[in-house]
Amino acid sequence: MPGHVVPPTAPELPGWRHVYSGKIRDLYEPVEPHPRGDVVLVVASDRISAYDWVLPTEIPGKGGILTGLSLWWFDQVADIVANHTVEAPVPDAVAGRAMVCRRLDMFPVECVARGYLTGSGLAEYNASGTVCGIPLPDGLVDGSRLPEPIFTPATKAEVGEHDENVDFDAVVALIGREDAEALRDLTLAVYARAHEIAASKGIILADTKFEFGRTAEGEILLADEVLTPDSSRFWPVDEWEPGRAQPSFDKQYVRDWLTSPASGWDKAGDAPPPALPADVVERTRERYVEAYDRLAKH
Ligand code: ATP
Ligand code: MG
Repeated sequence: MPGHVVPPTAPELPGWRHVYSGKIRDLYEPVEPHPRGDVVLVVASDRISAYDWVLPTEIPGKGGILTGLSLWWFDQVADIVANHTVEAPVPDAVAGRAMVCRRLDMFPVECVARGYLTGSGLAEYNASGTVCGIPLPDGLVDGSRLPEPIFTPATKAEVGEHDENVDFDAVVALIGREDAEALRDLTLAVYARAHEIAASKGIILADTKFEFGRTAEGEILLADEVLTPDSSRFWPVDEWEPGRAQPSFDKQYVRDWLTSPASGWDKAGDAPPPALPADVVERTRERYVEAYDRLAKH
């Protein structure tokens, strides 16, 4: 079974106490009361995950790219929804890849918007003609644009398990109708804005995942990372061709190598994935840099 093996790389940071590590990010809380209130320091590492494994090799600069892109996108959608970031200094050791954020009570829902059909959505569509219970027209193929973007939530899996796609009623059962509707509407509104901005730069935002949380005062904020290659599928528009897998600005290169004979790794087995060769690291790094440059530069 895939392992959520988080390497012990969370750095020690003066003034901050390490409290949690996800696959990619390390979270800290202030040792002394913070002038901005109840905050956490969210540090994006250079770790990369694939097939629910954290790989043993890092991608240099990846944490900085994810952080820079998230901060840029937060600004682009700030008139639609407020976000968890707080203007405050971060430790020098993690400059460029850390954000001080309001500590939120996170909703246990991965808020996914899809404008195109692929991945787990395509698999469900092929089996049942629906995605997360939403009926879709006949004849769609891998990469097809949907008649309109849809909200396709997933529930956060336990450590080492896949997230599970669920229908809207399951979200209502989990968090109540009012919040479920609010998260759906915000997800679709932010997706629509981001899709438009990406399109103006020659990139299709095929789908993306948001996480929301609530402040102690009850306000819903956009949290975590947003609209990065780790949380989204970005496709170069000039290479978009429904009917096949689309080239994308994400970890496809790593996934392809891991599942090729060259890696010697058995995706279905129990053993962790091997270290990445230098050329796979470099090609992957270039994809992240290109995504950043094409979207957020200038
Ligand atoms: P998991 O946390 O389930 O391991 P993951 O591997 O995706 O998932 P990361 O993205 O590496 O985790 O870590 C980020 C963690 O921080 C997530 O659990 C996310 O929900 C949480 N998080 C993000 N923003 C905030 C916030 N403002 N307050 C509290 N938690 C947050
Ligand atoms: Mg995450």
